[in-house]
Amino acid sequence: MKGPTPRRVRKYAAKCLGLKSYLRSPGDGRAQARIPAAALLWALLMGALLRRAAFAGIEALVGSRARRALGVSQSFGDDALRYFTERLSPAPTRAALASVLRRAKRNKAFEGCHFVGLALDGTTAGRRRESPCRLCRPYHNAAREVVGYRHHLVLAAVLGADLTLPLDVEPYGPGDSEYAAGQRLLRRVRASVGARFIDDVVVDGEFATAPFLHAATEVGWRVVARLKDNLPDLFQAAQWRFRSQAPHLSFREGFDRVELWDADDFDPWESLGWETVRVIRYRQHHRNGDVVEAYWLTDFPSRHLSSRCLYAMAKSRWQIENQGFNDAKNRYGLEHICDHHPYSLLIVWLLTCLALTLERLYRLRYLHRGTHPARTAIDLLLLFQLSLSAPTLADSS
Ligand SMILES: [Zn+2]
Repeated sequence: MKGPTPRRVRKYAAKCLGLKSYLRSPGDGRAQARIPAAALLWALLMGALLRRAAFAGIEALVGSRARRALGVSQSFGDDALRYFTERLSPAPTRAALASVLRRAKRNKAFEGCHFVGLALDGTTAGRRRESPCRLCRPYHNAAREVVGYRHHLVLAAVLGADLTLPLDVEPYGPGDSEYAAGQRLLRRVRASVGARFIDDVVVDGEFATAPFLHAATEVGWRVVARLKDNLPDLFQAAQWRFRSQAPHLSFREGFDRVELWDADDFDPWESLGWETVRVIRYRQHHRNGDVVEAYWLTDFPSRHLSSRCLYAMAKSRWQIENQGFNDAKNRYGLEHICDHHPYSLLIVWLLTCLALTLERLYRLRYLHRGTHPARTAIDLLLLFQLSLSAPTLADSS
């Protein structure tokens, strides 16, 4: 098989993932466009894949001899990227992400996995000292003085088998909240991928609020959420009950021993409209003596989902998801601000999601046919980088 190159990734995105028309017209809002939207969009996506988060880095790439190999039709400056991203409509990129996910599922990307989950997590990006935009939220020192500003957003990713595929983001500014943004995101994802796409929603304790859980019920999805001391009554009730009981289940997981408690008859807190709440507690004993303990709450009835499945869902999902978000932040520059403008920020976050989803489907599904082990992300990056310096005249693909 021919090695991976940026041009081949574009062909894969256009043909296998059905993005041909999106890549050509991604929702350009510029009045007079001298540089084709397709060139700017592909440069932004390749910039993310090559982990060059800054617009200046993309300008350097398309101004170099690598431009042809990148599949970008002409060079341009970072000001063109600013002008373009400040005017690019987010709707076509969100629709492209949803259609890629639906196609991946149809093409059996999640085959062999029992549940396809949706993970939501809040994160911050782009700290700055002054001149806030309308999305900037102030942060304070111990004396409650404003010492700077940063952006907050909630990311949604689809999790299934070995895949973590970022799907959408929802920023929230001052006066807004993480779980309100989470609810908007949940409703939008429900509309874009459909109710049957997702089997469960997995979230951290901050989302374990009645309005968020009700929003999930409304769209037809069950939630698995971390239970922490932000819900003191339920948390204490679960601690009190489980600590006085022997584990309900005990099993080995690799070298670790796991003890599990599970009960589905806890009282909901006052504002939560559930009949009862199911809570699990696990204690994972590592070989070196460390013990990890966590509590999770859910509305999955015991008769629909075993303790063991619920444990696996909560724990592995959480790990995968954290890796997914850390990747986006640390390797793909999600925290870096290219252009401090609310529209540009949102579109760059969405394009980073699309680049990550594209990279994972290409690497873990398309390239990984046959019996050889899957390439790592860093291997694929190196192959892309090497291909940029190779002569491209013979490459007609
Ligand atoms: Zn800002």
